[in-house]
Amino acid sequence: MASRPTTPPMTATNRQTALRYAFALAVLPALLAAGLWIAPLSVDHWSYHLQFLIALATTAWCVRLVFRSSYPRPLIVALAASLAMWTLGGATLLVQIDWQHSLVDMTNYTYLLFVGYGIPLLYVAATYGDPHPSRLQRAMDALLLTLLGLLYWLSIVDKLDAHGSISADGLWYAQHALDAVNVFMALAHTIRWLTADSAATRRFFRITSVFLLGYAACIGIHNHFDMQDVGVGFISRLGDVLPPLPFVGLALMLHHGRNLPADDDAAGSGVLQRVLPGVGPILFLLAIFAVGVSIDDRHTYQVLSIVGLAMVAYIVRSVQVQYRYLQAQDRLQGMAAALERLSYTDALTDLPNRRAFDRAFAREWASAMRTPQSMSLLMIDIDRFKDYNDLYGHQAGDHCLRAVARLIAGTLHRPSDFCGRYGGEEFVILLPATPLQGAEVVAGRIIERIHTANLPHRQGIDGRVTVSIGVSERHAIDLHADALLERADRNLYRAKGFGRHRWDAGDSEP
Ligand code: GH3
Ligand code: MG
Ligand code: MG
Repeated sequence: MASRPTTPPMTATNRQTALRYAFALAVLPALLAAGLWIAPLSVDHWSYHLQFLIALATTAWCVRLVFRSSYPRPLIVALAASLAMWTLGGATLLVQIDWQHSLVDMTNYTYLLFVGYGIPLLYVAATYGDPHPSRLQRAMDALLLTLLGLLYWLSIVDKLDAHGSISADGLWYAQHALDAVNVFMALAHTIRWLTADSAATRRFFRITSVFLLGYAACIGIHNHFDMQDVGVGFISRLGDVLPPLPFVGLALMLHHGRNLPADDDAAGSGVLQRVLPGVGPILFLLAIFAVGVSIDDRHTYQVLSIVGLAMVAYIVRSVQVQYRYLQAQDRLQGMAAALERLSYTDALTDLPNRRAFDRAFAREWASAMRTPQSMSLLMIDIDRFKDYNDLYGHQAGDHCLRAVARLIAGTLHRPSDFCGRYGGEEFVILLPATPLQGAEVVAGRIIERIHTANLPHRQGIDGRVTVSIGVSERHAIDLHADALLERADRNLYRAKGFGRHRWDAGDSEP
């Protein structure tokens, strides 16, 4: 596997690349300025044709990057779709300039494409990056997207006069709506840039943020000072030079980042990333409200229907997201409980394990200290088990351990009694509220039960598997639980010393 390249320091090659980009960015305005100087009267023709060509080249470049770059596929596809719509808008504008010699009467198609170009980019800003999108969620997002497109269309029809050209009022609206859409898009992408949770996503949204901010500024200046035909002043000429710049910048930025490794380094703020999936779709709703509010009274019913439907789509989406979240929470809780059960269970015998015993013992000890009640402990050890393993093998040994565990657990009847595997071939029984006499009865029962089960052991006592048990009872003077354990252990060794297959409660027990 190839080693991952680290971020290179600013080398001579990097500096050269940066210089080349700067040069490319500087040449364009210089060419335009020269063109304006030579042929100031045909300025509109110049700039609109050049602008179209640059947008077309950027679109083509972006389409190529869909297949040959490390940008996340849905993101670069959305950008290519947006650029294609914009370029198509530019083409319709050229048809008007060249064939109808009119700039002011933008057709509704041109306008729709120039405003609607943002929809694919808005779509990814609102929905990209949800780790578990459901089909219903995607359907609702697509519905919101369609409704937004419908509203855009309605808003354009709204601004056309009887002859199908844009009214004076409409022009004012068009300029401000374009500004609003562009700033809104730039903000949406900047939010995604700042909250991206992977390097690849962050890189893409950084590029689109810079592009969209530049686009909003350049097109804003162009629209306000040029569409009104302010004349031949400096700002009007500047307005002609600006629009292609963001596209050139975009092509250069896309080129620069096209093959950077998609390693996930430091992510953005965790809080923002968690809030974002909920906030994203609200961008749609906000856009739908904003466009809806700006539409004339003539279309009230259509607008209300669309906004209402959008709200329903948003609610369905939210409810579904919440449902899935709760489902995931239930699953997690179930898994946590299963894990906890596993961590307190011995894998071989299915009895509670040493960790479970420690917890139960500490709890019972604490409650026994507060009451005058007695409490007893049994330490059980299989006799000559090493020999059993040597004779029959470890698998047979495991089998025997499971059988003995079942037999021992079967002798206990009170729900408060605890039986667990202490370790190896040793078991422990905790009998809360049980005096020594009771513990001795239980110990006798266990010895008897194992004996009558008659598990064959050639070197065992009576040719079968037997156990020895150390019994101990809590004394009033015991300060620590360990005292009880130590006594049971000592008594177990006494039982072994006296010949095994027996229980022992020691001399010191009252
Ligand atoms: P004693 O009568 O003195 O208790 O003799 P013993 O052989 O049982 O005593 P010792 O403690 O020396 O041996 C315990 C043996 O238990 C060691 C090991 O072979 C066996 N053992 C411990 N844990 C397991 C286990 O999980 N599976 C199997 N098959 N054997 C185990
Ligand atoms: Mg042992
Ligand atoms: Mg043993």
